[in-house]
Amino acid sequence: MIDTALLEAFGKLLGPKGVITDRDSITPWLTDWRGRFHGQSPAILAPATTAEVASVLRLAHERRIALVPQGGNTSMVGGATPPADGNALILSLRRMNRIRSISTDANQAVCEAGVILSTLHDAAAAAGRRFPLSLAARGSATIGGLVSTNAGGTQVLRHGTMRGLVEGIEAVLPDGSIFDGLAPLKKDNRGYDLRHLLIGAEGTLGVVTAATLTLVPPITGRATVWVGVGGPQDALALLRWLQRRFGSIVEGFEVMADDCVGHVLDHIPGTRLPIATPAPWHTLIEIDLSALDDGQAAVEAALATMLAEGGIGIIDAAVAQNENQAEAFWRLRESISEAERARGPTLQFDISVPVDAMPDFMTAIAAEATGRFPGTTASSFGHLGDGNVHFHVRAPAGTADGSGWIAANGEEIARFVNDRLVARGGSISAEHGIGQMKRAELGRLSSPARLAALRAIKTAFDPDGIMNPGKLIPLASEG
Ligand SMILES: Cc1cc2nc3c(=O)[nH]c(=O)nc-3n(C[C@H](O)[C@H](O)[C@H](O)COP(=O)(O)OP(=O)(O)OC[C@H]3O[C@@H](n4cnc5c(N)ncnc54)[C@H](O)[C@@H]3O)c2cc1C
Repeated sequence: MIDTALLEAFGKLLGPKGVITDRDSITPWLTDWRGRFHGQSPAILAPATTAEVASVLRLAHERRIALVPQGGNTSMVGGATPPADGNALILSLRRMNRIRSISTDANQAVCEAGVILSTLHDAAAAAGRRFPLSLAARGSATIGGLVSTNAGGTQVLRHGTMRGLVEGIEAVLPDGSIFDGLAPLKKDNRGYDLRHLLIGAEGTLGVVTAATLTLVPPITGRATVWVGVGGPQDALALLRWLQRRFGSIVEGFEVMADDCVGHVLDHIPGTRLPIATPAPWHTLIEIDLSALDDGQAAVEAALATMLAEGGIGIIDAAVAQNENQAEAFWRLRESISEAERARGPTLQFDISVPVDAMPDFMTAIAAEATGRFPGTTASSFGHLGDGNVHFHVRAPAGTADGSGWIAANGEEIARFVNDRLVARGGSISAEHGIGQMKRAELGRLSSPARLAALRAIKTAFDPDGIMNPGKLIPLASEG
């Protein structure tokens, strides 16, 4: 039971800054970024060191107190929102915000869990390096949250997800013991890999306190290109052509249905389409020019060759002529979710299928969903080269936020989309994790073998179920 005496006991471990009970300070952390989940908690625990985290977990373990690890609270699936019953404490890692070291010899940074992604970007740049993972929430998302959700973003095509960038991990396990796995060993075959179990565990197996992360050389020049294409199949053909021509320096390749871009142009001031000719689909391409002598000219020449060769349905193209233009191109892509929020209620599906199946899937699922749910509109945007897009189903025009459309229709539409996705061998969560939003669907759609393994791992680490209850692991009634 969480009472004043217990909070005082935590206060003795963490000092006055380490236990926050003031309602105004707690309230912003009780609701998720999308405003769909609302929790309760009597306090936020905010340790400043790994030893303090360990002392918190020891006491919580002893008293069977549930903890909800939280970084920037940018989870898209309600993963860091405490349960509504108020029987869990938020464990904020935001005070653990030191970059412990940056080594330019090893190309590595050791960061505490609370380091904000953009802070790491800046520190790596100051050291002449780059941390090659970025996403629109970079000003708030923390290393602990990024590790715990195995975050992706716009550079996965070249550099992989967080899983590929974490070389070592330090964590506190649910009984308060410290797992010190920060050493970046390229080879380590001591059986089960705890690092990889903790990556993507969404705070259900322990608390990540620090990570050793891969840095790469900085980009000294980039080509940012907007290409309007006839359809998703043309987009994939374009990606494969560019990869044949430029290899792994094709760092980002985003695809967007025209209506997604249209919402940005309608709702985000100061945006404009980079190409003059309308197109049903758009791609945004980023190529690292650092190793090319003739940089931008090489990309422009390649595009001209490709157009002359024909075969790919390219409608129009524009190459950013300076950094401001490159940023403006990316702003269009990164503002889609914000623009849709301004338009009205939207159901978002962060999905993956095998890359070569994605073009047909995007077209088919949009037609099937709008056919089944008249009045809705549906389309996709995202990371085509990773076989991962965000498929959005929007409420009929004029539906107001707060009208209850999502509550009334969300479950049925989710089942409809997820059934079709699973039938094609896809995943209901490519990037954002499961949290509380997708837990029941994970239970409904997982094989008995997957569910049994998930539950067995959870029980082995956290037999009392104190770590992030209600997240990720389907309830017994859910599958
Ligand atoms: C505008 C926007 C764009 C986004 N774009 C992308 C994208 O392109 N790709 C992508 O992958 N994600 C994206 N996300 C989702 C989000 O940014 C990521 O999930 C991010 O990794 C969460 O980091 P956070 O610090 O905010 O974690 P939180 O939201 O606080 O927590 C996320 C999960 O991790 C757990 N957790 C947090 N810290 C720890 C810790 N130290 N130890 C153990 N568990 C912990 C929480 O309990 C929760 O389950 C986006 C989000 C927003 C709002």
